Amino acid sequence: MAFSEEQLAFREGIRRMVQKHVAPIAAEIDENDRFPEELIPVYGDMGLMQLWVPEKYGGPEGNLTLVCMAREEIAKVSEACALLAGINTMFVLPLMHFGTEEQRQRFLPIVAKGRSMTAVAISEPEAGSDVGAMATRAVRDGDAYVINGRKQWCSFGNVADYIMLYAKTGERGGFDDISAFIIEPKKMKGITIGRHEHKMGLKGSPNVPLFLDNVRVPLENLVGEEGKGFKASMRSLDLNRPTIGATSVGLAQGAMEAAIAYAKQRRQFKRPIAEFQGIQFMLADMAIQIEAARALVYECARAGDAGDWERLSVLASMAKCFASDTAMKVTTDAVQVFGGYGYVKDFPVERMMRDAKINQIFEGTNQIQRVVISRHLLA
Ligand SMILES: Cc1cc2nc3c(=O)[nH]c(=O)nc-3n(C[C@H](O)[C@H](O)[C@H](O)COP(=O)(O)OP(=O)(O)OC[C@H]3O[C@@H](n4cnc5c(N)ncnc54)[C@H](O)[C@@H]3O)c2cc1C
Repeated sequence: MAFSEEQLAFREGIRRMVQKHVAPIAAEIDENDRFPEELIPVYGDMGLMQLWVPEKYGGPEGNLTLVCMAREEIAKVSEACALLAGINTMFVLPLMHFGTEEQRQRFLPIVAKGRSMTAVAISEPEAGSDVGAMATRAVRDGDAYVINGRKQWCSFGNVADYIMLYAKTGERGGFDDISAFIIEPKKMKGITIGRHEHKMGLKGSPNVPLFLDNVRVPLENLVGEEGKGFKASMRSLDLNRPTIGATSVGLAQGAMEAAIAYAKQRRQFKRPIAEFQGIQFMLADMAIQIEAARALVYECARAGDAGDWERLSVLASMAKCFASDTAMKVTTDAVQVFGGYGYVKDFPVERMMRDAKINQIFEGTNQIQRVVISRHLLA
């Protein structure tokens, strides 16, 4: 893949940071399900928390390729830590694409400092793939909206300074009723953060339900126009999905490298298991799938960075879907290469296989990605 010298230098900087700050804690944050808050200033100083913020607002003015590169490199060692890079994407991009200039000037310089955590709250207990079924409501009352409802799964919702929260403001049904609001959970009254979910993997990256009880949100925190929130955020989602693809590529690469190293040193039948064709072919298949997934992810990133929105939309679903299916397959095969030792926590492939599963589920399940792709084909 042809990257510019600047991009390669960026990746090299991430690699060094990962060895120093991420590798030493990757297994521990999984074991203790601990949110690694010490990484916030490290990432912030490198511009990783605020990658999308334009220079005009004090940010590094990154792009999709850079976010993908950062997530891929970090995910080779830890998916949970990878997701923290570019974490503000779903807050910054909706503001960029359809917020007011006043809102951009109010929030983006804060995010640009690289110390803020943000979250996005779309999903609800009864509204997952079917976003239009959300029941959380925002009702206009004088100089504010009053929000009532419940959100589910909110990543980093317990540590976020700001949450981009989507709620119904109309009665028409479907996406046309959904509006976006900036919620400040540490300041606004009526927000209860629920129990931290105990997940299969992605430990260290917290998920919480949010309960909203008559939360008064000032009018100026409505992002864009009433009823246009979800449609307007589609482009942000298209720009976020490939980064899950990139995370998957990194995870798969990390698992393959661990499998290769193990296959060379583990001996059975008086020789390294790497000499058995059954193992060699598994490794070869891993490499083929990873290269194909990587090519798709960065082709998608190029389309996003070139502003080719129509192509981005379908490529984003393809990249997310193919790369996450690849990561699931590769990490499962990596465990197989380790035999019984792959099934215990002594080696990272056990964690990687658990982490890979989430990439097929969140950010739109892989079934939903296939719905998007086939809709595009049949249009
Ligand atoms: C760790 C984690 C982090 C998350 N972070 C966030 C977050 O920060 N913010 C947020 O808003 N949400 C978040 N989510 C929610 C996530 O986006 C949803 O879980 C996901 O969209 C699927 O919704 P669901 O779990 O309700 O599954 P459902 O929608 O109930 O789906 C169940 C099954 O049915 C399939 N299915 C559903 N509809 C169709 C269809 N039309 N055709 C074919 N198959 C279909 C699905 O693919 C799936 O296999 C997170 C979830 C997890 C687990």
